[in-house]
Amino acid sequence: MRDPLTVTLAGLPSRVEIYEVGPRDGLQNEAKVLGVELKAEFIRRLIAAGLGAVELTSFVPASWVPQLSDAEELVALLGPLPGRHPVLVPNERGLDRALAAGVKEIAVFASATESFAQRNLNRSVAESLRLFQPVVRRALEAGLAVRGYVSMCFGDPWEGAVAPAQVSAVASELREMGCHELSLGDTIGVATPGQVVELLDTLATAGLGPDRLAVHFHDTYGQALANTLTSLRYGVSTVDSSAGGLGGCPYAASATGNLATEDLVWQLHGLGIETGVDLEALCRTSLWMAGLLGRPSPSRTVNALAASLK
Ligand code: MG
Repeated sequence: MRDPLTVTLAGLPSRVEIYEVGPRDGLQNEAKVLGVELKAEFIRRLIAAGLGAVELTSFVPASWVPQLSDAEELVALLGPLPGRHPVLVPNERGLDRALAAGVKEIAVFASATESFAQRNLNRSVAESLRLFQPVVRRALEAGLAVRGYVSMCFGDPWEGAVAPAQVSAVASELREMGCHELSLGDTIGVATPGQVVELLDTLATAGLGPDRLAVHFHDTYGQALANTLTSLRYGVSTVDSSAGGLGGCPYAASATGNLATEDLVWQLHGLGIETGVDLEALCRTSLWMAGLLGRPSPSRTVNALAASLK
């Protein structure tokens, strides 16, 4: 298999933590619903390929996300795993389920905009943050780590541009609650690098430096890797991505365009940045998954390397 030529650039982290969202953010946005055994196999293969942080599933009511209605079963089937394996939790009921399942880390999902908070969470931004307060407090008391997502950080389909100060206000509240890591989501994939720097500047001024931030870019407009590199240059060293670009199927009307982990790994390894990931094993996993889903992976790197893996 072909590997990227490595040429380093000054001012970048020597190691990046890839936070793999394929099993959760990816599969919840795919039309085809996989059985629990296949999901467990997928996660085991991702871990075997060297991914140290894999978000497993979401403890949402089955009626919200039927694709992930087997959360308890999946976590039990997987058993203890090496590395970091958060689950998404939308409310206290979800936290109760996650605690009963024995997870060590949860993630909560907030919105920077009122329109998305209303549509996704059925509440205002302030109400949703109030809802998360007891979730985060109880999780911390139980010894869990909590990641906070902020979605719609750069643009919103109903409101257009999103002011960095608005993102900063939500991020600051999540940090004050005790979230150890904040993931900044470009949920509709509209950001360009100048906007990324503008937001990171605003957050740094508010005391939220890049060391405990993660970035979550979508490739809808082809900007995910440019935005990622811009974030790395700023000092961010945790990047969310989805194996094979899952959840970003270009053939589906609901395409969301998660950055593909393989495309990210190609860039990072080309820059001499350590990830711990075996790119060939990861591509094989995504080709297997594409077969299960019955359509090609939207990842450029998976497709470029596919022929050499046959
Ligand atoms: Mg996403």
